[in-house]
Amino acid sequence: MSRQRLLVIGGDAGGMSAAAQARRIRGEDELEVVVLEQGEDTSFSACGIPYWVGGLVGGRGDLVARTPEEHRRRGIQVHTGTRAEAVDLDACRVTAADGRTFDYDHLLIATGGRPTRPPIEGLDAPGVFGVHRLDDGERIRAAIDALPSDRPGRAVVLGGGYIGLEMAEVLQHRGLSVDVVLADPLPMGLLDADMGERVCAAMRGMGMGVHTDQAVREVLRDADGRACGVRTDQGTYDADLVVLGLGMGPEARLAEAAGLGIGVTGGIDVDATMRSRTHENVFAAGDCVQTYHHLTGEPAHVALGTHANKQGRVAGSVIAGRPARFAGVLGTALTKVGDLEIGRTGLCTTQAETAGFDFRTDVVEGTTRAGYYPGAEEIAVKLITESGSGRLLGGQVLGGQGAGKRVDVLATAIWGRMTAEELSESDLSYAPPFSPTYDVVAVAARVVSRAERG
Ligand SMILES: Cc1cc2nc3c(=O)[nH]c(=O)nc-3n(C[C@H](O)[C@H](O)[C@H](O)COP(=O)(O)OP(=O)(O)OC[C@H]3O[C@@H](n4cnc5c(N)ncnc54)[C@H](O)[C@@H]3O)c2cc1C
Repeated sequence: MSRQRLLVIGGDAGGMSAAAQARRIRGEDELEVVVLEQGEDTSFSACGIPYWVGGLVGGRGDLVARTPEEHRRRGIQVHTGTRAEAVDLDACRVTAADGRTFDYDHLLIATGGRPTRPPIEGLDAPGVFGVHRLDDGERIRAAIDALPSDRPGRAVVLGGGYIGLEMAEVLQHRGLSVDVVLADPLPMGLLDADMGERVCAAMRGMGMGVHTDQAVREVLRDADGRACGVRTDQGTYDADLVVLGLGMGPEARLAEAAGLGIGVTGGIDVDATMRSRTHENVFAAGDCVQTYHHLTGEPAHVALGTHANKQGRVAGSVIAGRPARFAGVLGTALTKVGDLEIGRTGLCTTQAETAGFDFRTDVVEGTTRAGYYPGAEEIAVKLITESGSGRLLGGQVLGGQGAGKRVDVLATAIWGRMTAEELSESDLSYAPPFSPTYDVVAVAARVVSRAERG
């Protein structure tokens, strides 16, 4: 077999997982692996940016899992500072911004996500920061360091999703007063309203301003043109920094311009092997693709690193000749604001309604540890279950330290299509420092199964 070339566009989670997996399976004499990355970093953790800005984790280098040089030592040719400008699907050739061309046998597109930027006046002003790449973290850190020392700094965070919440927390941790402005009625839109209200109350309890149901009209600028506040349809909020957390769509413009099939969510349309449905030697992985919901089978776009890594690995395996499949997503996600841990998985009630399920919801309260053990904190678990069958459809968890990771038990149960009764009978662990004798997850499942049995 003649030596083939895998060309990868995008050097982070999706792209480098694919490159590394293909390299593991095929030696350099069989497969040449070439990566084009427009930035200077590879395999970096955007997830760590808020905590780096907050001074809770070390330097920029700690957020890089593997540098370009480390990848090169493993037999992957990495071209940093190299932006792919165009893909010619007929000629199997990619042209870079500097005019160089790269031929391929297999192409893997992993261009990531594109932060939502609505057409708001002043959004491009200095002092307005996105949170996407390590350079953004660097810029926000510099802006905080440059704040005047004679008064506390002020930040306005636009958006109440998990990036907005994480940034709000760390900005407060750095001593700034924080206002969070969101268009939705509650933060964390993929929680049910009763759970979102608890998040909102926790944020206000931390001293943050949370301004819901507000449409941003303008980023206000001072005489130097620098952002100095945000005007909404209901008020004005002063700011030294404006930080954007308005959501993430797929960055699929390069693929679309080339003529690759795009799905209804705007992501690159791939099958379960991560292969383009329209061009068989092209694959895609990560935030740029459309995936599907594991329960409903419906198309979904969920921009999370967990999926990007797994999808890249699947694509790398398949390209290297080893069968693999990506089995879809449940939208399992975990974050925190202050001491409140927030987890969700599967369908929330709105999604269950849209999917046409007849379902019930139950909220059960408990403690994270045995009540008598130091540090026991409140925890609430919400289950969404199919009426009649008792099958678990969704779960949400809010609570103090140790609460959040319980969402993984729910995700596993939902993934395995278990009923609430089966979950309640499962052999879950117990010791006083970790849970009461019956963990709140098991209690919630038992409450549902009893109700289902009438
Ligand atoms: C602040 C923040 C916190 C997060 N926290 C979490 C978390 O806690 N848990 C979680 O699971 N996920 C989290 N995520 C999401 C996670 O970071 C992403 O899902 C993941 O990085 C996606 O990987 P990717 O490879 O698809 O895309 P990206 O990480 O966006 O990488 C795409 C790469 O492609 C490059 N590129 C794009 N276009 C071109 C081109 N034309 N030519 C060459 N190179 C190009 C980009 O420079 C980039 O390096 C977070 C994201 C952010 C921003």
